[in-house]
Amino acid sequence: MLMETSCCPVTACWTSPCQPPVTMGIPVFILAGLLVHFVFLVSIFDIYFSSPLVHGMTPQQTPLPPPAKRLVLFVADGLRADSLYELDGNNTSHAPYLRGILENNGSWGISHTRVPTESRPGHVALIAGFYEDVSAVAKGWKENPVEFDSVFNESKYTWSWGSPDILPMFAKGATGDHVYTFCYTAESEDFGAQDASKLDTWVFDHVKSFFNSSRSNQTLFSALNEEKVVLFMHLLGIDTNGHAHRPNSREYKENIRKVDEGVKEIASMLESFYGNDGKTAFILTSDHGMTDWGSHGAGHPSETLTPLIVWGAGVNYPQKVTSQFFEDNFLKEWKLENLKRLDVNQADIAPLMASLIGVPFPLNSVGTLPLEYLNNSAHFKAESMFTNAVQVLEQFKVPKLLKGLCGYEIGHVNSRAAFQSLVVESWHVAEEVTGCWGVKLNYAGRASTVGDLCSKY
Ligand SMILES: [Zn+2]
Ligand SMILES: [Zn+2]
Repeated sequence: MLMETSCCPVTACWTSPCQPPVTMGIPVFILAGLLVHFVFLVSIFDIYFSSPLVHGMTPQQTPLPPPAKRLVLFVADGLRADSLYELDGNNTSHAPYLRGILENNGSWGISHTRVPTESRPGHVALIAGFYEDVSAVAKGWKENPVEFDSVFNESKYTWSWGSPDILPMFAKGATGDHVYTFCYTAESEDFGAQDASKLDTWVFDHVKSFFNSSRSNQTLFSALNEEKVVLFMHLLGIDTNGHAHRPNSREYKENIRKVDEGVKEIASMLESFYGNDGKTAFILTSDHGMTDWGSHGAGHPSETLTPLIVWGAGVNYPQKVTSQFFEDNFLKEWKLENLKRLDVNQADIAPLMASLIGVPFPLNSVGTLPLEYLNNSAHFKAESMFTNAVQVLEQFKVPKLLKGLCGYEIGHVNSRAAFQSLVVESWHVAEEVTGCWGVKLNYAGRASTVGDLCSKY
C-alpha cells in the first residue's frame, strides 16, 4: 500500500511526478520507530531497575535486654533443604550433629527464598532482610548500587570468613570500621578445584586460629567478649560441589558431612572460649538450593527451599507435636512428623538475628520476626513484634513525607500491608500477656498511637 497510489501504478511512481509523499517519510518513520522502542526500553529500566530502597528512617530496637550476647551464622551456600534433612538407606543423616540439634536442642524449618535464587540476593535477604535491590543487576550483582543497612552494620562487631564474592558487600556499606572480612582470594579459589570442601575447611581452620590468636591479643580478646557480636561463616564448598558433581553425588553429600563436623567443632570451641556462658545463639541456613542437574537461579522448589536450624541462647527447644499439616510430604520423608516445623520467608531471618542479640532491625528489612523460634517471655515477644511493626511503618512514612500524598509507589503499599498485619499479630501476642495488666495497658496505649499514625498516612 505504501508504494501504490490511486494516481499511478507502483512502477510508475518512482519516475512520475505523482510519487506519493509517504515514501519521503520512510526515514522519519524508521527514526520514530526507533525512538518509540528506545523510550520503551528506557522506561523498563526506569520503572523496574531503579532501587526500591528508601533512606532516612529512624532505627528501631526492642527496649528489653536480649537473650544472646553473640550470634553465629553459618551459611552453607547451595545447600538444599532435603539434602540436609533426609536420611539415607540406613536411616542415618548426612549431618548427624545438626540432626541431633534439631531433635534435642533447637528449632527447625524451611526458609523459603525468592527468585533469583542466586548467592547475592540470598545473602541480602538473610542479612539485610529485604529482597534484592534489582538495580544491582546493572552492576553485575557485584557492587551495591545503593548502600543498605544490615544486621552486620547494626552489630557492635562482625567478623566474617569466606568467599570474596559475598563478604565485601556487607563490609563496604557498613558505617565505621566494625565489619571485618577474611577471604581467600578469588584466584586461590582454585585450591578447592580438586576437592571443593577445602573451601569450608579453610573457613573453619581460620576461625579456630583467629580465636586462638586472641589469647595473646588483649584488644581482640575484649572485643570478642563484647555484646552484640556476630560471627559469620560463608561455606562455599557445597555449592561448588553441587555445580561440579550434582546434588545427588557422593561429593555433595560428603561435603555436607564435613560442614556438619566443622559446625560441631566451631560450636564446641566457642562454648569453651566463652566458658559455657549460655549467651551464644547459632543459625545454620543456606542462600539458595540447587536443581538435580546442578544449577540455581530459577524458582523450582529444589532451588527455593533451604534449611533453617536455630539453637542456643534465646531459641526455643524442639516442640513435640502429634500432627501437623503441610501440603508437601517432606515431614514423612524426613521422619520429622513429630517435631514442629517452623517455616519462614528468607527475609525473616534478619529480624530474628537482630532480636536475638538486641540490635535495631535493619532499616530496609521487610522481614517479620518468626516468634515461634523465640524462647522468651510474652512481654519480650510483644515488644519485639511492636518494634518490628514500627520499623516497617518507617519505610512507608519516609517516602510519603518526601514525595507528598500521591507520590508513593507500589512497593510502599506492600510495606503498609506488612505493617498492618504486623500490628494485628502484635496485638495477639499482647493478649497473651494476661495477668500482666501494666504491660498490656502500656502496650495498648502505644499501639493505638501507632494505629492513629497509620490512619493518618
Ligand atoms: Zn550461593
Ligand atoms: Zn552456585
